Amino acid sequence: MYKHVTILLLLFSSLHGFEYHLKPKKVAEDVYCFFGAPEEISKNNGGNMVNTCFVHTKEGFVVVDSGPTFEYASQAYEQMQKIAKLPVKYVINTHDHDDHWLGNSFYKSKNALLIGPRSYEQNVVVGMTSRMQRILGNELYGKTSIVKLDKIVDDTLTLKIGKRHFMIEKLVKKAHTQGDLIIYLNEEKVLFAGDLVFNDRVTSLRDGSLIGSIDALKKIDAFKAVVVIGGHGYKTDANSTKILKKYLIEMKKEVMEALDNDISIDQVTQRVIMPEFKNMKLYDVLHSRNIFEAYRELELYDEEEEK
Ligand SMILES: [Zn+2]
Repeated sequence: MYKHVTILLLLFSSLHGFEYHLKPKKVAEDVYCFFGAPEEISKNNGGNMVNTCFVHTKEGFVVVDSGPTFEYASQAYEQMQKIAKLPVKYVINTHDHDDHWLGNSFYKSKNALLIGPRSYEQNVVVGMTSRMQRILGNELYGKTSIVKLDKIVDDTLTLKIGKRHFMIEKLVKKAHTQGDLIIYLNEEKVLFAGDLVFNDRVTSLRDGSLIGSIDALKKIDAFKAVVVIGGHGYKTDANSTKILKKYLIEMKKEVMEALDNDISIDQVTQRVIMPEFKNMKLYDVLHSRNIFEAYRELELYDEEEEK
């Protein structure tokens, strides 16, 4: 008996590769998300440390971010099909970090149209070894491959599908990355913020801009959306931007003060600790790097010039 169960389990796991245990959570009428853990990418989580969402329309699904692997996207698709037997029409990629779009190759195999920012076109090279592949290894990476976008958004684009209007917009020049898109459902007041919004963990300023990120959060708040879904973290109410905004504004203030006091870049990461945020997930991994990036940016920043 046990032997049979073991064989079945082995069969199941070899058919499926990594088991993601994806459960869609309804965040608004016909809007669902899969919430990843507030962690770094690891073999244990299979890259499922990211949020992806889908909207159910009468004509088909619209997916926002396709997740970390082909297998993840395939399992997300299985969950969608339990809600309605409909095709995925569009996949909108919020930005070019690979945890958010490596599921594209799966959706391409289902004939979805892939949409994303110009920076994806510029930074994503077919055939390159992604960060995800390096960390997960080829076995977990499985059938994942890198595919080109079908449509690029430079500023704004509105998609009409099944009576819904998806407004896709680039809010500021550089924020989390060189090209972050938000997706807004105007009638439903639902906003998909990608990595412009983090909660339940510390963000990474590695490819971004502190000033741009603060600016983007102000613009997101101005939409007065009822539901705001970030790229990482579980909060989706109108307050989901709050913690990151507080973190970045405090960082700006303290790093500016350090610059005024001639603190060097070597000292600043030791000085600007921001203890209030110490208990946030990934603080130890990302905070001092963020301070370093903020210092380099603010060193050249002239507040008056910006106005
Ligand atoms: Zn991300």
